[in-house]
Amino acid sequence: MKKIAVFPGSFSPFTKGHESIINSALPLFDQIIIAIGKNSTKKPIFSIEKRKNWIKDIYSNNHKIFILDYSGLTVDLCKKMEAKFILRGLRNVDDFKFENDIAKTNMKLNNDIETVFFIPPAEFSHISSTLVRDIMLNNGDTSNFISFKF
Ligand code: ADP
Repeated sequence: MKKIAVFPGSFSPFTKGHESIINSALPLFDQIIIAIGKNSTKKPIFSIEKRKNWIKDIYSNNHKIFILDYSGLTVDLCKKMEAKFILRGLRNVDDFKFENDIAKTNMKLNNDIETVFFIPPAEFSHISSTLVRDIMLNNGDTSNFISFKF
């Protein structure tokens, strides 16, 4: 059976930190679906199409990576895509507190799906989409934080 994982997130934008999670996960899975979550209550700064195209720029030659957007529960997306794994990143204890709750909630919603956590290398662990977004919007140098052309 194919090992399929979903990496869900806002990815606003997709940073070198996110990329490091994918790099760690690639040898472990046959297929990784990068799933951009739609938040129905918030108007995003970067459109879904923009975010999707930026990620496509990075992975256009990688046959293991698929990119899509979704609304609804991540566990429902996993079931639809026949994915048994959810990938998430842990930068620090704050992430741990947040991710711990999400993982346990998802476990209650669907016990067949396992959340797998990755710790990024130190050089990426300070990167957050919020800060990178600010640099992008203010025309700063983004080269240390994102890989796509902006
Ligand atoms: P969400 O809104 O679902 O938290 P994000 O796009 O902010 O979406 O993050 C998606 C996942 O990537 C989360 O598990 C987050 O902890 C992780 N992540 C974000 N930035 C980094 C980073 N620099 N290094 C490793 N993991 C990260």
